[in-house]
Parts: sequence; structure tokens; C-alpha cells
Amino acid sequence: MNSDQQLTPDAQAAERFRNLLEIAPDPILEVDAAGRIVLANNEAEKLFGWTRAELAGQPIEMLLPLRFRTNHTAHRAHYSANPKTRPMGTGLDLFALRKDGTECAIDINLSPVSVADGEGRVMCIIRDVSERKRTEEQIRTLNQNLERRTEELAAANQQLELRNVEVERASLLKSEFLASVSHELRTPLHAIIGFSELLAEESAGGLNTKQKRFTSHIHQGAHHLLELINDILDLSKIEAGQLELRQETFALDAAITEVLSSIRPLANNKGIELSDEIQPDLSIFADRIRFKEIIFNLFSNAVKFTREGGRIAVRCAPLPDHIRISVADTGIGIAKDAHESIFQTFRQVASTTKGVREGTGLGLAITKNLVEQHGGQIWVESELEAGSEFFFTIPRTGSGGEEQPSLMPAVVLVVEDDESSRELVVSYLESEGFKPLTAGSGDEGLRVARDSKPDVILLDLLMPGKSGWETLYKLRSTPATAGIPVIITSVMDEKKMGFALGAADYLVKPVAKETLLEAVRKVKRLGLP
Ligand code: ADP
Repeated sequence: MNSDQQLTPDAQAAERFRNLLEIAPDPILEVDAAGRIVLANNEAEKLFGWTRAELAGQPIEMLLPLRFRTNHTAHRAHYSANPKTRPMGTGLDLFALRKDGTECAIDINLSPVSVADGEGRVMCIIRDVSERKRTEEQIRTLNQNLERRTEELAAANQQLELRNVEVERASLLKSEFLASVSHELRTPLHAIIGFSELLAEESAGGLNTKQKRFTSHIHQGAHHLLELINDILDLSKIEAGQLELRQETFALDAAITEVLSSIRPLANNKGIELSDEIQPDLSIFADRIRFKEIIFNLFSNAVKFTREGGRIAVRCAPLPDHIRISVADTGIGIAKDAHESIFQTFRQVASTTKGVREGTGLGLAITKNLVEQHGGQIWVESELEAGSEFFFTIPRTGSGGEEQPSLMPAVVLVVEDDESSRELVVSYLESEGFKPLTAGSGDEGLRVARDSKPDVILLDLLMPGKSGWETLYKLRSTPATAGIPVIITSVMDEKKMGFALGAADYLVKPVAKETLLEAVRKVKRLGLP
């Protein structure tokens, strides 16, 4: 209705100012020198719930919660003395009171406004910040939760560290205890065995039939005890990682022939036919004595569990990196549900062919540990009454001799979730002639380590899913991977924890190329677990 042409320029400006006020996105109030509301815009009405008519002439304090009102007059007086454009109550939480009695969080900007009669008024531009405050509160709560979780994790890590130190101590004590006890036991046992043999030979006088039988019982019992002690000691040494392998390249058929010649008398006693189907010219990379122990254990079981007149064969099959060797018999066989458990300590599922439990129940547990320490695997295929075939794999070399293994490129498994970091490490390793394998998570790392038996593992600590600590713990406690040195790479510096959990080295990221390669070379050279 009112057109600009009908208004004076001053009136036009005032009209435009009012329009601007109305379309402003924030609530705006104007307050006079006495603290009374002179003007309120549309948004102010919406925020406070009062109409502008209700607000006009009212003290500004009516829009403040009661608890702020008393001090507000002093604040106003202070502002009148220093009028300038600035936020109100910087760093404080400000609240407005609505008509319905509810409060809302606000920010306020103050600007002095001069009017014609020189009266100092104040323009208050208000912003409803309740949404922002809510978000800030949520972030604060999340941060507090995160801090709590981090503290809990640190406490759990510390517990784990302590537990591992305890476990290591206990394992050391166990080994020491076993070593000294078995020494103490073996000395008198040798005396019992020796004297019972002398008695049986009747060199110190004749024995009647009953006495001979008793002497034989003493001899057999003492022998069994000695075997048991030796096996327990062996196993505890292997489990404590104290068994050092002296690996070398040697001819497979010669080593097998040596074992066969010592087992042949036993087989002949039972009329069992032994056949050697090992192809010549194959060599393996192993600890010769321990390899013969593996073969001997399998042969002696085969003889023990095969009836008179049966057959035992030793065979082999060359694979790309390993040689698979098997000992097959036509014996009493093993039920499917015992195929795994027989490799555990003290598991005996069958009597021997003479119906008596012989042996200690430790032979296969020792054999499995030895095979795995060589980086191989062992398993059985068998059915009850249909014979058994025990298979194991052992690393092979070419025909080049002793130096061959060190010339072969070391396989390094990089367990890292971040693709670009993984690529970088892989390129470092390749440039130095290492053969890298990769895994993007802890679980994948465990699987690859178990299947591919790398020479060294580089393990990043911060990965989704399984934590790096957990992966390290699993790697060290799984026999198939326990011997593989693990180098931790992490942005966190927690070397103490890393070494307590059995890491061979600990590198804090970012890691320089040369530092990384030197660490890999070092653990590879020392064969550190
Ligand atoms: P043991 O001293 O009893 O032979 P092992 O650990 O060598 O202990 O073997 C564990 C069990 O596995 C044996 O007691 C037997 O039940 C079973 N076993 C091992 N080898 C054979 C085999 N060749 N044929 C049948 N059963 C076997």
C-alpha cells in the first residue's frame, strides 16, 4: 500500500531497515539505555514466544533465567561505559528464558547504536545454539568414553604384559625343574636298569623262575620310566624354545637308510617287511639328528601297531618348496575322530598289537613339534583295521649344498591394513631381493603365516578387527608360527610391551627404508624368534 514515492528519504531508509530486520535469519532485539526492549524482529518473537507488542517497553531481564538477572544490571552498566561491537559473555554459557518457561542456549553479539537524541542503545543479535551445544555435549561424552576405553585398554595391556612375564617365568621354572628332576631320576634309574640286567644275566648267582620274572618286571618298568623322563624333558625343551636346530642340507635317502638299519631288527622280530621307496638324489634342509628322530618315532610306532607279517613302507614326494615324506603301515589303524588328538601329549587311543599299552603317549607330540619347528606339517590318513599312513613335510633345497639356503630369498610377511604403507614396505623389500607376502588384517596374517611359513613377519599394531597385540600373541603361541621372528612397526612407542610379548624387534613409524631393511636382515641373520 505504501509506495516509496510517498515517503521521505528518511522514512524510506527506516522502512528498509525494518524490512532488513524482519528478514534477518537471527533473532534481533534493540534495548535502550535503561535496559528496556525497544524493538524485536520476527525471529526474536519465534525464539522467545512473546509478541513484539508484549516485549516492547519490558526490561531485557525478562528474557533471562532468574539466576542471571541480579548481575545483569551491572553487566549492562559496564557495557554502557565501554560500548563496542563484541560478543557477550565470551567463554560463558548463556541462556535465554522463553515465555513458556523453558530455556535455550544462545550466543549474543552486542553492538552500540546511536539514535537521534544521542541516547545509547544496544543492538543484540542472538543465535540459538542449543543444537550446537547438544552436539558438543555428545562429542564430549564420546571423548570421555574413548578416554575411558583407552585407559581400560592400557590397563588390560599391562595385565597381559604381567601375565606374559609370569608365563615366561613359569615356563623357565618348569624347564629348570624338569631338567634337575630328570637328572636326579635318571641316575638311580640307570642303576636300577644296570643291576636288573646283571641280575638277569645271573652273574651274581642263579635265580629261580619267579625271581627272573620279577627281575624282568623291574627292568621293563625302569626302562619305561626312563623313556618317559627323556620324552618329557625333550618336549619341555621344545616347548620352551630351548631346542636349537642345526639345519643343513643333506641327502634324504642316506638319512632314511640309517634309521631303517636301526629299526630293522625290531621289524624282523615281528616278521614285518620294510620297504624303502625313497627316490635317490633328493636333499632336504633340516637338523639331521632331529630329522632322524622324527622318522624313527614314526617307524617305531608303525612297528608297534602292525601285526606280525605286516608291511611298512617309507615314501616321498617332492613338492615345490618341501618334500613330503610318509610312513605307511598295514597295522591296526586309527579311528577318524582320533586323527588330531593323537598328536597331543599323553593321548593313546590303541593298545599295541600285543594288547598292552606301550610307550609314553608323547612320541607324536614330540614329532609334531619337531616337524613344525622345521617349518613343516604333519598329519595322518588312516582307518580302523585298514593301516595308517603318517605324512609330514620338510623344507627342501636344490642339489647345491650347504650355502643354498642362505642364497634363497627370505620371505617376509607384511601384516598392515593401510594399503599405501603396505605397498611402500613391499617396494623396500623387493628392492633388496626379499620375497614379500602381504596380509591386510591380523586374521589374514595368522593364516598366511601358518600356511606359508615366512622367514620374518612385519606386524603393524593398529589394525581393524584383531589388535596387533592379539595377533602377536597368537603368532607366538601357535607352534607352527612360534619360531618366526616378528618385527613390530607402530606409530606408538611401546617397545617394552612388544618385547615382553616376544617381538624380535620394534620399529616406531615412520620407519626409514634402511632401518627397516637392517632390522629384517638382523633378525633373519640371528634367526631370532
Ligand atoms: P605312544 O608312545 O603311545 O606310541 P605316540 O604319541 O607315539 O605315543 O602315539 C600316540 C597314539 O597314537 C598311540 O598310542 C596309538 O594309539 C596311536 N598311533 C600312533 N601311531 C600309530 C600307528 N602307526 N598305527 C596305529 N595307531 C598309532
